[in-house]
Formats: sequence, structure tokens, C-alpha cells
Amino acid sequence: ERLDAADRALIARREKVLGPAYRLFYERPLHLVRGEGVFLYDAAGERYLDAYNNVASLGHCHPRVVEAITRQTAILNTHTRYLHEGIVDYAEALTATFPAGLAQAMFTCTGSEANDLAVRIARYVTGGTGIIATELAYHGLTGAVAEFSPSLGDAVTLGPHVRTVPAPDSYRGAPGEAMERFGRDVAAAIADLKRHGIRPAMLIADSIFSSDGIFAGPEGFLKPAVEAIHAAGGLFVADEVQPGFGRTGEAMWGFERHGVSPDMVTLGKPMGNGYPMAGLVLRPEVIAGFGPNARYFNTFGGNPVAAAAGRAVLDTIREEGLQENALQVGRHLADGLKDLAGRHAAIGDVRGAGLFVGVEIVSDRAEKRADAALTTRIVNGLRDRRVLISAAGPRANVLKIRPPLVFSRENADTLVAALDDVLRAR
Ligand code: PMP
Repeated sequence: ERLDAADRALIARREKVLGPAYRLFYERPLHLVRGEGVFLYDAAGERYLDAYNNVASLGHCHPRVVEAITRQTAILNTHTRYLHEGIVDYAEALTATFPAGLAQAMFTCTGSEANDLAVRIARYVTGGTGIIATELAYHGLTGAVAEFSPSLGDAVTLGPHVRTVPAPDSYRGAPGEAMERFGRDVAAAIADLKRHGIRPAMLIADSIFSSDGIFAGPEGFLKPAVEAIHAAGGLFVADEVQPGFGRTGEAMWGFERHGVSPDMVTLGKPMGNGYPMAGLVLRPEVIAGFGPNARYFNTFGGNPVAAAAGRAVLDTIREEGLQENALQVGRHLADGLKDLAGRHAAIGDVRGAGLFVGVEIVSDRAEKRADAALTTRIVNGLRDRRVLISAAGPRANVLKIRPPLVFSRENADTLVAALDDVLRAR
């Protein structure tokens, strides 16, 4: 199948006017015009099963969110410098989903801004500048955050105050080693910062290690690392942009699976099911000094429409039982993929939590040799079979499966059957 003339023309216009920084997914880019639930529809009316997009976590164009946004847009949309119930109601509902202590919220429009604010606060509170992140982490696009987002590659230079540690790779390390090693690596990074006269400000981790290749377990592996940063006077920031809002199934927030207490938690992507909203939940004592001096104002962050969207998302997650669905369907999906691994030697590992699943594609199981070329063929082959996923990891060989939380068992079976078909056809 080739691209039709209209799509070729659109690509040319796009390149001309948007310039070279933009990328399209797929060898044969997808031209989407509509979404509903777990499905996306292209310009020709073809339907695709979405097993990738975590923003529309309740499903595309969820009617409850559409209704909430539409209604509030028609009534009032201002900012946080006037009194309004919406933001207060939402902040109360949001903080109520967190362990006691994480009791205050601040709102931004993107996850990048939330992490940017977290850095400012951490530096103010600790008096330090040092930051520890994982080797292939992505935390956002602002100048300050790009400096600790090594997944941006050569496009950015990591800050001199930044140290990276390997993600806790449960596949390639010795069994059970990941937990201990991660804590040791963080302690070594702290020691190195100190040796260079840099006081540590924070450790930041996305507890599902999405761009690092998806490492969900063993549960608890964050604990020694968090203890180390606290002992060094730094803060722990849990970046929940990817694992948050029920996706990991076992808990509303990914860090809860590890039994750790963050000082700040950053949120984004699914928070408004597509309405751009993000934020920070933190301990009051962390913001007590910074807050009064911060003059914090975010023109669009936490506006009444955002608050309405956020509230609809939280209510829907609870009322539709989406965290439980992520757990049950996630298990079913992982079982299906493990079963497939029994028939296809290219599947080296199936891992994840809830509806965040990684599948390691290898050319040699015993050697665990990554097969990035086959991974690309699988992602494109699935696209041809109208199932959407992506790939991640340092070797670009981990299938990244991260569907809306309304994914059903039947949807999971469709995905597994399509993957089986691609692997048979190669
Ligand atoms: N943190 C993580 C873990 C992310 O995956 C992302 C986005 N991919 C961000 C932060 C940044 O969020 P945003 O794109 O909304 O700025």
C-alpha cells in the first residue's frame, strides 16, 4: 500500500511550513481524523485499534470529558487570580487520591512545566543544584528540564550538575539484582556530585521507566535510591506523567507500587484526557518557603475549563473502575503475549504493570541480542494490520504497549493476534 496523493501533498505542505523539527510516526504516516473510545479513524475511514496513546486514557473523546469542557467553556474561562470553586474542588479531589502528606497541588499546562517547577522548588528548598535522572529518561522540553532528559540525545547537552544512572533493567541484569543495583548507582551518583562540590537537589524518576525501556519491577526497587537521596539532603520527585492516573493497575500512582514517599509528584498527559493540563502535588512543607516568594502564576494552568476536565477524568476513572480494568486487562494482555513468546523466539521478555507493557524483541534469546530492525518492522506491520503501538529503550527494541485504560480483553486479543500474524509473516 502506498500513500495517496492527498496525503503526499499534506506531508509536503507540513514540511514546508512546520520545518525540520517535527517527526511523523511510521514509514507510511497515518492521517487521523476522528477518535472514539479505543479506536482511531483515518481520512479514508479505516479503523485502528489504539494501543499506544496514554493521553486519551479514558478513551478518545470520552463524552463525559467533552461535556465538562464544553459546558465550562460556555460559562467562564479565566485564570487562577479570581476565586472559583472549580480549581479548589478539583485540587481537593486530586490530593485525596494521594497518600496523606501529599496535600497540596499546583497547576501547569504541560508535564515539562511541572518538572521545571519541581526543579526550581527543589533547588530553593535544598540549596543544592545537583540532579540525578536515569540514562534514557525524558522529563520534558524546557531548557532546565532538557538538561536532565538524556533521551533527547545529541540535541541537548546534559547539565554539569546532572548525573545519570542506568535504569533498573530487570531483563539483562542478574535475577533480583536490579533493586540493589539501582540504589547503589544512585548512591554513587550522589557521591560523585559531592566530590565535584555540587550539593544534590533531587532524584527524579518515572516509576515505569518508559523511555528507558519499561521497567516496572521488582516492586520496591525505588526504595534504597529514595533513602539515599533523602539521606543526602535532596528531594525525591516522582514523575507520574506516564504511570499515573491508574495505568499501572495496582495503584493510582506508580510510586505507590514501590512503597516510597515522594516529596513532589509531577503529573500530565492523561490528566485532562486530551485537554492540556498538568501539575504538581507536593508536601506543604516543601512549598512553605518557596511559595510566598515565588509569584507563581500560570496563565492557563488550572483554569476553570482545565479543572472541569480534570474533575471529569478523576470521576470517570473511579466510576468506570478503570484502575481495576487496567489491572485485569493488563494481566490478560501480558498472559497473551507470554503465550506468544512460547511460539516466537523473537520475544525475549514481556514485562510491565497494568496497561503499560514492554516486549523485548531479540535476534538471539540466549544472548539477549536486541533486534531493532525487527522491532521497526513489527511496529509498521501492526500499523498495516490497523493496530497502533510504538517502540522504546536504549536499543530501540522494546515494543511499547500503552493503550487507553478502557481497553477490553477482546481488544487485547486483537492486538496479540495481530502481533502473532506479523511475526509469522516475517
Ligand atoms: N515526563 C515524562 C515521563 C514524559 O513522558 C513526558 C512527555 N512524554 C513529560 C514528562 C513531558 O510532558 P509534556 O510533553 O506534557 O511537556
